[in-house]
Amino acid sequence: MSPPPRIPFLESHPKEWPTLFQSLGAQPFQGKIAAKWVFKKGVSSWEAMTDLPEQLRNELSQSSPLLLSQLERRYDSPDGATKLLLRYPDGASTEAVGMPGTQGQTICIGTQVGCPVRCQFCASGTDGLERNLTRAEILEQVLWLRQEMGDFHRLVVMGMGDPGFNLEPTLNALESLLDFEGMDLGARRVTLSTVAPINTIPALANWQHNINIALSLHSASEELRHELIPGLPKRSIRETLEEMEQLFAKNGREYTIEYVLLSGVNDSTQSAHDLADLLRDKRCHINLIPYNPVDGLGFSRPPDSVCGDFLNVLKTQSLSATLRKSLGASAEAACGQLRRRSKLG
Ligand code: SF4
Repeated sequence: MSPPPRIPFLESHPKEWPTLFQSLGAQPFQGKIAAKWVFKKGVSSWEAMTDLPEQLRNELSQSSPLLLSQLERRYDSPDGATKLLLRYPDGASTEAVGMPGTQGQTICIGTQVGCPVRCQFCASGTDGLERNLTRAEILEQVLWLRQEMGDFHRLVVMGMGDPGFNLEPTLNALESLLDFEGMDLGARRVTLSTVAPINTIPALANWQHNINIALSLHSASEELRHELIPGLPKRSIRETLEEMEQLFAKNGREYTIEYVLLSGVNDSTQSAHDLADLLRDKRCHINLIPYNPVDGLGFSRPPDSVCGDFLNVLKTQSLSATLRKSLGASAEAACGQLRRRSKLG
């Protein structure tokens, strides 16, 4: 007799789990119990769900393991950040990151394997897009991080890939985390970062959850921005900012501008003034991120004094801005670096 087919539970919204359990001949309420174990308690194996019958747990463990990815490597940085290198059954890999924060942990997950945006300074962008992640594969990163590091306070969708280029699976995964039947995470605790491909911001404005949105800008100059980010959608910074302003008008929530500071590239006083001119009347907060160098990409991090001067230019012009404290500043610190090293062998 052939074994029962695998049910990809994480591909379904937790409110559908009772129906999935019923289709297996189990009780619908047992599906509710299982969803609670996974999303509320952070359990990712059927064996641990002790209030389900042992036979059911054994059957599910055999036929439908919750996690298909393997934890290939865990890297703990001396400053408290942790990176997990996860390997999916087809050999594709991704990184999931946990960082300590003032109110608890922040976790960072990705939405694609590789990245079509190809930022010239990023380890994940060097080879372009390998493939999109599914809803389940995006969620597996959260479950692994919870299993390895415990609960978290904030979730940022800023890891490998751009969620705007894989929007539907990303929003489906976030619904499993935000909705009451899932993790019931408050929308204010979630930030999604994107270069804003066409239609992304309007889709987010019409989405049911009012999460924080960050726009990756990195330069106020069209020319330099396109040089740094070859995979950008073909439209101007002003058009993109117009959409961000419409998003603010709709949901009343200020957006974030992400600006990676690259030594000798976009960190001059003039660049700071140009950025201030561009954003002066916008409803945004500017997050300056001193670069974490990646071997062989030819970019370096500006000295602390240069980062401080850049920040001061913005602040003296009354813009809301902060300089991000970099965590994981060691050999594997930069986004995608751990995976890149594993690929290079
Ligand atoms: S920085 Fe983000 S958007 Fe740019 S290549 Fe890396 S993963 Fe993609």
